[in-house]
Amino acid sequence: MQYVKGVGPKRALPLATLGIRTVWDLLYHFPRRYEDRSKIISIKDVRVGEVQVVSGSVLARGGKETWKGVNVLRVAIDDGTGIIYATWFNQPYLERQFSVGSKVVLSGKVAVHEELQILNPAFEVLGDEQEVLEAGCIVPIYPLAKGINQRQLRRIYKSTFDKFASRITDFLPYSIRGRHDLMNLPQALRKIHFPESESDWNDARKRLIFDEFFLLQLGLAGRRQERLKRGGISHTSGGRLFERFKKILPFQLTGAQMRTIDEIKKDMSAPRPMNRLLQGEVGSGKTVIAISACLTAVESGHQCVLMVPTEILAEQHFLIFQNSLLSMGLKINLLVGSLSGKMKKETISEIENGQADITIGTHALLEERVEFPNLGLVIVDEQHRFGVGQREILKKKGLGISDFLTMSATPIPRSLAMTVYGDLDISTVDELPSGRKKVNTYIVTENRRAAVYDFIRGEVKLGRQGYIVYPLVEKSAVLHLKSATEMEKHLRRDIFPDIRIGLLHGKLKEKDKEEVMQNFKRREIDILVCTTVIEVGIDVPNASVMVIENPERFGLAQLHQLRGRVGRGDYESYCILIGEPNSEIAKKRLDVLTETTDGFQIAEEDLELRGPGEFLGRRQHGMPELKLANISSDMKLLEAAREEAFSVLSHDSGLREVRYKNLQMLLKKKNQQWG
Ligand code: ADP
Ligand code: MG
Repeated sequence: MQYVKGVGPKRALPLATLGIRTVWDLLYHFPRRYEDRSKIISIKDVRVGEVQVVSGSVLARGGKETWKGVNVLRVAIDDGTGIIYATWFNQPYLERQFSVGSKVVLSGKVAVHEELQILNPAFEVLGDEQEVLEAGCIVPIYPLAKGINQRQLRRIYKSTFDKFASRITDFLPYSIRGRHDLMNLPQALRKIHFPESESDWNDARKRLIFDEFFLLQLGLAGRRQERLKRGGISHTSGGRLFERFKKILPFQLTGAQMRTIDEIKKDMSAPRPMNRLLQGEVGSGKTVIAISACLTAVESGHQCVLMVPTEILAEQHFLIFQNSLLSMGLKINLLVGSLSGKMKKETISEIENGQADITIGTHALLEERVEFPNLGLVIVDEQHRFGVGQREILKKKGLGISDFLTMSATPIPRSLAMTVYGDLDISTVDELPSGRKKVNTYIVTENRRAAVYDFIRGEVKLGRQGYIVYPLVEKSAVLHLKSATEMEKHLRRDIFPDIRIGLLHGKLKEKDKEEVMQNFKRREIDILVCTTVIEVGIDVPNASVMVIENPERFGLAQLHQLRGRVGRGDYESYCILIGEPNSEIAKKRLDVLTETTDGFQIAEEDLELRGPGEFLGRRQHGMPELKLANISSDMKLLEAAREEAFSVLSHDSGLREVRYKNLQMLLKKKNQQWG
C-alpha cells in the first residue's frame, strides 16, 4: 500500500493496523455502514424528535462543565437556512476537530432546548473540500485506526481504483455468475466502496457473499476429494457379532437405529477413511449404534477406541459395553486419568500388544503415550465437548487411515453442517425409542419458587428423583447468580430436611463424583443439586423432574440437552426453568423450549438468535473468516455456492479448464495465506 498515490510510509502505518498491507487487502476492507447523504436536509426543515442528517459550516464552538460535573461541548452549525447546535456530553476532546469555518455533516436525533439541538450526533468533518459530498449521495463509513480518517481513507480508495481497477480479474466463470445473477468482480468491488444507490450495494454484497461461501466450499470439496482418494481400511464383516449382540439386547432396535447402523457399516466397508457424524436427540440410543460400529471393526480384525468427555460417562459406557459384549469374548478396556499407575500400565500394555479390542476413555487417551498397533475405528462421543485439536490428536492415532465417527446430541443446523463441518457425512437418528415421554416444560418466575419446591417434594413422595441445576459451582463475587454449593446447604437445611440431597459439580474429585453418581443411581439420593456436569450421558430413568435456575445463562441447545436427563423412564416428566428473562430476546429464546422438543428446531433458533458461536465455541475451524456473509440469513446463497463449488471440482478436480484459470491462481495465493 505504501506505494499507492496518497499513502506513503506515514499512512501505511495506520493502514497496517487495520490489516491492510496490499491493494488486495484494501479492496477487501469493507465499509462498516453507509451514510445516505441524499437525505441531508436544510436546518430550517429538520423534524424534532427524529434522526436527521444536516450539513453546514462551523460558526462557533465551546465546552463547559455543568454544576453536576458533566462536560458539555456545543458546536454551532450554520447551513444558510438556520443554525443548529451539535451537543456532546463528556467528550471534550472532540472540540479540536471543529475549527471555525470547516464543513461538517452530522446525523443524530434533533431536540429543542431554547435552540435547535442535535444530540451526540455521528459526524464527519469534511474540511474545506466539497469533493466527497458531491461525489455521491451514499458515503461509505469504514472501520478506522488512529492516524487516518474517513476522508483520507476514501481518497486512498479513489486513487487505488483509478490505478488498479482495470487489473482486477474475475475468478468466477461467466456461467456461474449468470446462473445466480451475480455482478462481475471489478464491478462488485467498485460498488461496495462507491455505491450510488441502495440496490448497488445490495447487489455488490450478494456477489461478494457468494464469493466467500464459494471459496469456503471449494476448500471443503477439495478436502473431501483428498480424503476419498486416500486409502483406508475396508472393514468386511459378515455381521456375526452384530447378530449376537442384537439377541442380547433387552429391546428392539428402532428403525432409525437400524438405518444408521447400516449407513455406518457401508461406509466402513469402503476402502477409504470414513468421516461421519452421528447425530440424534438425547436418548435416541446412539450408544448401541456405536457398539455396532465397534463390532464391525472388531470382526474384521481391528481395534476400536471411544473417547468421551467425562470419567462418569466413560465408566457408564464401559459398563454397558462390558455387560453386553463380555459374553461374546471381547476384551474391553477403560483408560481414564484416575486409574492407579499399575492399572494404567496394564491397560496400556494390553492396548499395545493388540489384546484390547475396544478401549473406552477420556482425554487421558490423548495424554498417555499409548499406541494402537491395529486401530480401525475411532469414535468421539459428545464431540462438541472437545476442541478440534483434541479430536485431531485422537484421529492421528489412526494414522489417517482409520474410520472416524463423531457423535453428538446437539443437532447441528444444516447451514453449519454445510460450512464448518463441511467435509462430513451425516447420519441422523431421527426417531426415539417408543414409549418415550415428552418432557413437560414450564418457565416460572421467582415468586413461584415455593410451589416448585412443593412439586419436587411431591415427586419424591411418589418415589421419583430429581435434579436441580445451577449455573455456578461456588458463590461468585462478580456474578449475582445462585451456586450449587451454597444452595445445596440451604436446601438441605431449610427446605428439604427430610429428603436425601446430593451435590455434584465439576470441581469434585473424580472419585467423589463417581460416588455421588452411583448413589444417585442406586436411589440413595433423591435430589441431586448440580451444575451442568450432568449435561452429558447420565442415564437415570427414575428421575422425573429437573429444575434449572438462571436458565438465561445457558444456551438453548444446552438447556435442551440438560432437559434430556429426565423423561428417560416410564414416568411423566417435568422441566421447570426458574428465571426472569430480562429482555424480549431472552424471553423468546426460552419460549422455544416450551413450544418444542425438536432438537433441530431448537438448534436453528439458537443459531439465529445467538449466532454460530454457541456451536463452535472458540474459532476452531481453521477456515477463512466470513466478512460479509451470515450463515443464517444468507443460507440460500450458501446452498447455491456449495452446489457450484462441488460441481466444479467433480467435473474438473485439477481446475485445468481455461475458464478456471483465474480461480486456480487465486486459490494458490489463498493457500499460501491460509497455510
Ligand atoms: P443417547 O443417544 O443420548 O446417547 P443412549 O444410547 O444413552 O442415548 O440411550 C438412552 C437409553 O435408551 C438407554 O437406556 C438405552 O438402553 C435405551 N435404548 C436405546 N435404544 C433403545 C431402543 N431401541 N428401545 C428402547 N430403549 C433403547
Ligand atoms: Mg450418549
